[in-house]
Amino acid sequence: MFKTIQEMISYVKKENIEIIDLKVCDMLGIWHRISITSNKLDESIMEKGIGFDGSSYHFLTVEKSDMVMIPDVSTAYIDPFRSYKTINVIANIYVIKDNQYLRFSDDPRYVAEKTENLFKKDNISDEILLGPEYEFYVLDHMSYKISDHHLEVKIDSEQAQWSSSKTENNLGLHVRDHGAYHLDSPLDHSYDLRTKVVVEAEKINIPIKYHHSENGGPGQVEIEVNFAGVKEMGDRTMKIKHLLKNTAKSMNKTISFMPKPFSNELGSGMHVHIQLKHQGKYIFFDKSGYSGLSKIAHYAIGGILKHAKSLCAFTNPSTNSYKRLVPGFEAPVTLAYATANRSAVIRIPGYTIQEDEKRFELRSPDAMSNPYLCFSAIMMAAYDGIKNKIDPSLLGFGPYDINLYDLPASEQNKIQSLPTNLKEAASELENDYEYLLVGNVFSKIMIDNQIKQLLTEEKEISKLPHPKEFELYY
Ligand code: GLN
Ligand code: MG
Ligand code: MG
Ligand code: MG
Repeated sequence: MFKTIQEMISYVKKENIEIIDLKVCDMLGIWHRISITSNKLDESIMEKGIGFDGSSYHFLTVEKSDMVMIPDVSTAYIDPFRSYKTINVIANIYVIKDNQYLRFSDDPRYVAEKTENLFKKDNISDEILLGPEYEFYVLDHMSYKISDHHLEVKIDSEQAQWSSSKTENNLGLHVRDHGAYHLDSPLDHSYDLRTKVVVEAEKINIPIKYHHSENGGPGQVEIEVNFAGVKEMGDRTMKIKHLLKNTAKSMNKTISFMPKPFSNELGSGMHVHIQLKHQGKYIFFDKSGYSGLSKIAHYAIGGILKHAKSLCAFTNPSTNSYKRLVPGFEAPVTLAYATANRSAVIRIPGYTIQEDEKRFELRSPDAMSNPYLCFSAIMMAAYDGIKNKIDPSLLGFGPYDINLYDLPASEQNKIQSLPTNLKEAASELENDYEYLLVGNVFSKIMIDNQIKQLLTEEKEISKLPHPKEFELYY
């Protein structure tokens, strides 16, 4: 929103802004906030920043935990939900070394910046373009209770209530009780909520491609934003999640990006569409290539598929993520690429026939990920593919223009699959991380911390008795 701190200071005075909320994204992809009254906003904030405890953000250990946040004024926007006039601004993280401020190398925003710089420095692409699709459930109410012997989850929604009236022997006509793709009003229940969010998003420079209801149900929907770079898309993802969650709260609803809240329904993914531009040209297009893709696009696919298993540690970092990645629910399982095929990890949209539209879509990620790290890790795998000319067809990844869910077991064995749980994903990363360290984009400390985090979460959850265990063993 602003080019300089002076510009922001004058705006704050002119518009009587009262509060500035500084936001910092932690390793898990969650925003933390520190608030200052607007009269504290002066040039020194840009030089000295605000000190904080980095160990509480999962970045540093307690004995050496001092960090500093300095706002990036270009990210500032008005927060429409606060009762006092408030500006939100994303901050970069610094550490102090030899009495000097240094960018903290594992700040997720900085990782995203370093990824983009690597592509530029090597003359591969001066513009990475990413287009994520955010799928999520909108529900009226959610409560859960975990005790030693019991897990109780209660989720209500207008549609779920309708469905219960059906089960109470109501054999007459009943309204649709299931979500569906591209529903019209009045069946599309969260239309007003989404409309509010997309209008607010466009006001803060997040152009929206479209939004619609989704196939899962009840209450599953989707928003897609226009393409942008790695860091910018990380920022947009954080802002749009914040908008969604706050809008939902103001309307007495809840929103969940949980990848698989209902076992028999489609899960929520965050497919990522990828394009590269260089010197004004879209370099993924070649009319004569398979599906209209250039060699460089093939190599990017090769790199992503080669590293797809270890990537999961960043693109699908929850135990619940792997409950989504099962056959039969439009989520991918198989390491393959293909045109118009929603059962493959990489799909090339069949309707992209123009140069400026040519792209492919990675279908495995979900929105539990830290968006900066998720997008950066994917692009580091693509970078490895491009640098080392990894041909996906030579590694047995296809193209497979068939339904991969229905393959006979003999064929299925020939094709590799994504990890089936978080522990597997962590061990894949343990065995395959060098591609992330190139150009010091990711650090080994960060990789080790991520593995530790995943294993801790996995262990904690594996100790809980599962409701299904009561059914089987009680
Ligand atoms: N919800 C599906 C997934 O988990 C995708 C469905 C779709 O976009 N057609 O990835
Ligand atoms: Mg979509
Ligand atoms: Mg979708
Ligand atoms: Mg998609």
